[in-house]
Amino acid sequence: MQGKMRALVKTERAPGLTLQEVDIPSVGPNDALVKVAATSICGTDYHIYSWDEWSQGRINPPLIAGHEFAGEVVEIGDNVDIVKTGDMVSAETHIVCHTCPQCRIGELHTCINTSIIGVDVDGCFAEYVSIPAYNLWVNDPDLDPAVASAQEPLGNAVHTALAGPVAAQRIAVTGAGPIGLMSIPVLKKTGAQLVIVTEVNEFRLNLARELGADIAINPAEEDPVAAAMEATDGLGVDGVLEMSGNPQAINQGLKMLRPGGRMSVLGVPSGREVTVDMANDIVFAGVKMEGIAGRKMWETWYQTAGLLAAGLDIEPIITHRMPLEDFEKGMDLMASGDCGKVVLIP
Ligand SMILES: [Zn+2]
Ligand SMILES: [Zn+2]
Repeated sequence: MQGKMRALVKTERAPGLTLQEVDIPSVGPNDALVKVAATSICGTDYHIYSWDEWSQGRINPPLIAGHEFAGEVVEIGDNVDIVKTGDMVSAETHIVCHTCPQCRIGELHTCINTSIIGVDVDGCFAEYVSIPAYNLWVNDPDLDPAVASAQEPLGNAVHTALAGPVAAQRIAVTGAGPIGLMSIPVLKKTGAQLVIVTEVNEFRLNLARELGADIAINPAEEDPVAAAMEATDGLGVDGVLEMSGNPQAINQGLKMLRPGGRMSVLGVPSGREVTVDMANDIVFAGVKMEGIAGRKMWETWYQTAGLLAAGLDIEPIITHRMPLEDFEKGMDLMASGDCGKVVLIP
């Protein structure tokens, strides 16, 4: 498709994004062009916007930012047969190589040659995005595009929650950013007995309560380990979903875990290195600790779509919807933490 579109572009190695008129991207033989109906802001996008240390080492401008979206397929390449024009789609944002050893053993989510849309290649903060058709997931056409765009982070919540047993389990979620918040209805829907959430931001703590958290604790005001112990007859929780990346929360999570419990870690510590009591809290406690990288292709997507079809409701987490032009307001909300998911409408 020839023509121009509006897009949020990282034009130089400096903070901010610029709303620009750019060419509608070309469509290679294995690609599809999607008209973006909704695109949600992720923590990664905020890192790129604010130009933090990570983005300075990873991002090469000019780049259209954004990776979470839903929209309609409007054009397909010659080799594409898994989607057709008119399909409402979302996307797996990790573009994998299909040839490295990880891909060949079916562990595509840990492909050693992964590139990410909106990070390594042009993204979806735009009216159109071109992406390998393999990465597209066809949605129920009745699914709200804002909810559909959030399926990528929702998939992270599903992957983390379902990385260990949930039914009849007592589970703590450390950190109630958007993905931590999403994990609450996922845990409830899949049969958790008790969900304990720790979070320092009051807005998000209230949202956690609204979403069904049985116990929601501000660790700045109350000892979360003592509260979790009290709620579990002194034994500790069966599982912890680590969603904060905060070293203190990681340690609190380990200390509230029962012996033999599991900690599934999605949060990314900004300082990289975290000190934990390996001997007592992991080895002698017989704890299973697992890193969660993205979403399993495509198991997590089937699970996520299945949960949505079964009535999983993440609507309350989408707290803000605004036109693409208002992205700076959206980024300010992300910085404040007084939001769930912020969705931009191109
Ligand atoms: Zn994301
Ligand atoms: Zn690979």
